[in-house]
This record gives sequence, C-alpha cells and structure tokens, in this order.
Amino acid sequence: MKYTLAIVSLLILFIGVVGFKGDLGKFEPSQSVMNRIKVLLSEMTVEEKVGQMTLITIEAISSKQGTKDQHHVLDEKKLEEAIKKYNVGSIINVFDVAHEIDYWHEIINKIQDIAVKETRLKIPVLYGIDAIHGATYTKGSTLFPQGINMAASWNKELIEKVGEITAYETRASGIPWNFYPVLDIGRQPLWSRLWETYGEDVYLASQIGSSFIKGAQGNNIGARDKLAVCLKHYVGYSYPLNGRDRSPAWISERMMREYFLPTFEAGILAGAPTIMVNSGEVNGIPTHSDYHLLTEVLRGELNFKGFVVSDWEDIKRLHFRDKIAETPKEAVRIAVMAGIDMSMVPKDYSFYEYLLELVKEGTVPISRIDEAVERILTVKMELGLFENPYPDIMLKEKFAGDEFTKVNLSASRESIVLTKNENSLLPLPKNVKVLVTGPTANMLSVMNGGWTITWQGSEESLYPKEKNTLLEAIREKIGSEKVSYIEGTSFDKNININEAVSKAKENDVVILCLGEPTYCEGEGNITDLTLNPVQLELAEKIIETGKPVILVMLEGRPRVINSIVDEVDAVLIAFLPGMEGGNALADIIFGDHSPSGRLSVTYPKSPNGNTTYDFKPMENFDSNKYDPQWPFGFGLSYTTFAYQDLNLDKKEISENEELNISVEVSNTGKTASSEVVQLYLSDLYGSVSRPNKQLKGFEKVMLNPGETKKVSFKINREHLSFIGRENKRIVEPGEFEISIDNMKENFVLKPTSAANN
Ligand code: BGC
Repeated sequence: MKYTLAIVSLLILFIGVVGFKGDLGKFEPSQSVMNRIKVLLSEMTVEEKVGQMTLITIEAISSKQGTKDQHHVLDEKKLEEAIKKYNVGSIINVFDVAHEIDYWHEIINKIQDIAVKETRLKIPVLYGIDAIHGATYTKGSTLFPQGINMAASWNKELIEKVGEITAYETRASGIPWNFYPVLDIGRQPLWSRLWETYGEDVYLASQIGSSFIKGAQGNNIGARDKLAVCLKHYVGYSYPLNGRDRSPAWISERMMREYFLPTFEAGILAGAPTIMVNSGEVNGIPTHSDYHLLTEVLRGELNFKGFVVSDWEDIKRLHFRDKIAETPKEAVRIAVMAGIDMSMVPKDYSFYEYLLELVKEGTVPISRIDEAVERILTVKMELGLFENPYPDIMLKEKFAGDEFTKVNLSASRESIVLTKNENSLLPLPKNVKVLVTGPTANMLSVMNGGWTITWQGSEESLYPKEKNTLLEAIREKIGSEKVSYIEGTSFDKNININEAVSKAKENDVVILCLGEPTYCEGEGNITDLTLNPVQLELAEKIIETGKPVILVMLEGRPRVINSIVDEVDAVLIAFLPGMEGGNALADIIFGDHSPSGRLSVTYPKSPNGNTTYDFKPMENFDSNKYDPQWPFGFGLSYTTFAYQDLNLDKKEISENEELNISVEVSNTGKTASSEVVQLYLSDLYGSVSRPNKQLKGFEKVMLNPGETKKVSFKINREHLSFIGRENKRIVEPGEFEISIDNMKENFVLKPTSAANN
C-alpha cells in the first residue's frame, strides 16, 4: 500500500527480481570442478565442443521403437556414429514405451561404454528423461499424483519425499537428469498442460517446487540416489491467450516479473542446475530467440549458473514455424547467441553441422561456445558422471517397493479435494449398495494423465494389472457383491445411459465418475472448458432417479460442471491422483481417510470464468463478479475446524523488521484430520492496482478431535513487495491486512526516510 505516489523516496527498491527464497543455495560449481573443466576445455576441439551442445533423442539411434507388442531395439551403429563422429553430449527419452529397469541399464551401459572407452577425452553422456510424476519411463515405477495434485496437498514434506523417490527411481534406472519440475504458473485453465503445473499461485508453486527440488537433489546432485533437475519451461509458456499449447502469450513486463519469473527464481535458489526454454513466444518474440529473457534476465538478474537447454526441435522452429530466421542455420545462430547452451535437436545432426560452420565463419564466437560447454561439463562433473557414468545396480533394491507405494498412497489421499458434502453424505458406511458409473470409473490412465508409460499416457493395456482402478478399489473395500458397475458413457459417447439409470434405482448410492481422457501437450487442446455434454447427460439422468450422487472428477484441468453441481450431493475433485488414486479415493469415500486437499487452482463456474483468486479490485466491481464454482484454497474435511487468537506481534513495522503472526486452530469435530492453515495478505492501497489478496504463508497441520495447535508465520519485506510502475520490485509503506480463515488484522509498514534506503 502507499501513502501517496509523490513520495517516491518512500518506495523501497529491491535489487533482486523476486521473493520467496529457498534455503538450499544456488547451483554454484565448486572451484575444484571449475579447475578440472578449464583443463578439459583447453584440450577440446571445436567439434568436440559443439558435440557437447548437441542433444538427440534415442529415436535417432534406434532400429525398432517400443510398442505394446514389440520391444525397443537400439541401433548400435548409429549410437557409435552419434558419439564418435558427432561427439553428442546428451541423449534423451524412450522411443515410445517405458523400458524395464534392466533394459535401461543395458542401454546406458552401452552408451557410456562408447563415450568413456572409445572417445579421445572420455566425456560421459548426460542422459535425460521426463520423469514427471515419478520415473515415467521405467516399467513398474512409483507414479505419483501429477503436479496440480501435489500442490493441492499443500504438504511440503510430502512433495520433498516425492522428489526423493522420483530421483531414486530415475537414478536407479541409470538416468541422472530429469526434465522436471514444471514451474510454469497455471493461470490459464484451458491449457492442456495445466496439470503439470503446481497451480495458479506464485507462492504455493514456489514452495512446492522448491521442496520437490530439495528432495530430488538433496545438497549434492552427485549422490548415488540424487539427480539434476531441469526447470521448465522458462518462461511464460503457460499463458497462451487462446488456451492452446504452443501459441502466443502476451505478458507485460510487470506481469512477467510478478507472476511468471518468481517460480523460476525460487527454483534457481533451490539449486536447479538446468533450465528448459519456453516452446512458444511471449509478446511476439519466440523465447528461443529472446536474448533479453535468456541472458539479460536469467543470467544478469537471476544469476543462474547452470546450463540452458532448448525444448524439442524449437531452434529449427525459429525458421520453419516462427519465420524469424530465414534459414535453419540462422536459427542456430540466433538461439545460441540468445543464450541457449544445448539444443534438443533432436533427430539429426543439423545443429552440430550449422554451429560448426558458424564458429568457423566467426559469426558465433568461440567464447560463447566455451561458455556453454563449460556449463554443460560442470553439470556432468557435479553429477559424478566423470567418476562413474554407469547405473548403480544396488539402487534396484528399493525400486517401487512398499515403502515408496505407501508414500504414493499418502500423496494421493492428501491431493484429493472434497468440495461439496451435502448433509454429510460422505463418508459412506461400508454396508451400502453402490452403483459405480461413468467413463473414468474403471481406467488407470485417467488417474495418471500424460507422461505415464508413454508420452500421452493413454495405453491402458500397458498399465500394471495389480494396481486398482477406482471401481476395483471400491470392490476391494466393501466387497464386490455390494458394487454394481455400468459404464454409462465413454468420454464423448452414450454407451448405455438407460441401463445405468435402471441400475441406479436398485442401489443406495451412485458414485458417478466423470472427467477427461489422458492427453499431453497439443494433443489435449480444447476450445470449451465445459465437460462433454454426454457426460453431463449421464449425470442429469442419474440425478433424476433421486438417489444420492457422489461425483468424482478425474481430469487434468477444471472442466466446467456448473449445470450438475447443485443437484449432486457430494463432489470430489481428484484431478490426476496417480497410480494409487483408486485406493485413495475409496479410502476417502468410505471414511478410512478424511480429505485434506485444498484446490491449487480456482475452479471456474463457466467457460469464460477464468478469474484467479488473487483478482484485481475491478474484477469484482459493478457488473464484474468473482464468482467461481470453488475458490483456490478451498476444500472440506470430515471434521470441522475453528480458528482463534489471530495475533500480530506488532501493529507497525519498519522495512527491515519481521512481523510475527500466530493463530490457533482446533479440530472441533469428531474425526482426526489435517487442516491447511492459509495466510493471505492484502495491500490496501498501491501505486499499481493490487490483488485483493495473495497467499503468503501456509502450514498443514494434523489435528485429532478436540486438539488445538498454534501455527506461526513470519512476514517480511519480500512478502510485502510487488512490481511497481517502473517494473521494478518495490515495497510501499502503508496499511496491510492479514487474513486467516475469516479473521483479519491490520498492520502498518512505516515510511522509511530516503537516507536509510
Ligand atoms: C516438452 C517438454 C519435454 C520435451 C522432451 C517437449 O515436447 O515440451 O516438456 O521435456 O518434449 O520430452
């Protein structure tokens, strides 16, 4: 807030870009590593250097792709050519389906054997993979809830554990580099990758993202069960104006600094050593060509010391899609000079050939190549690949064991949000007779989403048979004899709605499972957020029977269900709860676990209702209303909570002081349950319009019936700061309001004289 715009001297300017600092420390190569790299670099030819900057997909060195009926086969001749002739520094992915862990070992051993035994300088290959919600591409791995769910758990310790296990299982597969976490902010609900994000809020996503990194990397990425993360997709990718994947974003500099850069800064401060670039464009500039974002901001302001990798084929696209480069070679020059250190080419050696020519012609200086290669080799060395590039067989021991499955079940349970529970219909007693119906009731893919076994995650036949769909979990929980199942509809077609309706009449309760099929990237584009009409028709006809209805939504983004919400009795927004999703939902529905998830995105009521919770004053003024189906942060439990004693230790603070806040929360019901205590800050007046409120602290606490806990928070200048008119981070003195639940307290940030700044 501010007193008056004229008192510029009272604005407190920040040197950094954003707030919410992590506690792990940035990725800073050690002096000994730097010394070794310098020597290595001095021995390398230009060809060897440019090769290190080249990343290819395994598809380019395979003779057979993996499918559900055929095993993948590596083409060893092509592999040798890649490493020995083109000096390729990095290889990624699978050629279609997940491999067994032993086969991963075979492949990685072959690759590294050639790299470290048959090349002049013995530089190991950096293998990378999209281990998005667990080790996506290793058969039988522990596959967790997706990002949107993990954020809905609001549990930092849990996501740290998820990070640890993801790293363990990926490294156990012999792979040390993970293209995750996605730190794009999820403020465009149509976007087909919303579920990969940690939701719409900058603070929540920064905290959850940093905790994942902490778990995945520990304090040494070279440890045998840790890996290097890759933040993506820097930056602005998640905000396409029309909602379609890889389409233009228009983001003002203020917005960029307020909403899109902070999560990346948090990731860098948590120690991320690599970053992947936004595959789209911002304000008309394809990000792969954006010197300002890739170098001035990322290096100059965020002080990032690791390496930057392009996204899939995106340097080529500067020529053939975006038409900002007249030739593919010019595209390579633009991208490398903008700040990209490694190109995900990924299917040929064109990048290598062009870059070599550019260096020889002098249009790309060798200093730029050295800089990029130094960064890449540093990460390889910090990962310990020079000492041991091979998979560690010992790590197979705990791979996908019970210990990890238990964590997965907790993650899944904690990530599911109960948004309606009329007359406490839930939990159900275990002696009821239920009809389970709807397209998402009996599939594992719908709980996992994309990046599961295959890229699209849609090969249901490849899912592990021993895992429970929701239907199977319900049968297991209450006994098959009490459970009827009629599919009703597919995602978009009537199968047997009438039969489902007749069956509903014979049962006590209906569990109606609706939602989306799996998808990933552009394949998930839609033009209407409303749930498919045929699913709504199934719902309406079931509702007409008068039987109590529990609606379960399995979906990657909040599909609009406004036309049926008032008529159903209970709603569980499960999003993509992962491989244990069926068991977790059954536990919640039948009372073995009290729900504690809270929405990580605003759930819209209408297709155009994509107003986020931190809306500006004019979005709730005159004819504009903030009127979501359910707001960000919302979620019910099987108990009641009461808040008391919101306490601020000062009524006034100066800019360098911290404000200590405490509150008491009690479980006033009869069921043990966790509550997410959420602290919001409102800046009452500001020189730019301020959000009505913003999350600035949260804590998840477990409370037994009758138990009370005191929760404490600290607020400092970082929390009070925002991006001002000059597009710089500032703090303005004045009055602020803290709110927790329905309690509010104000405090004042005192003006500081210019001399003290
Ligand atoms: C996606 C990235 C992914 C890369 C490699 C791209 O299409 O945008 O998120 O990491 O492919 O699989």
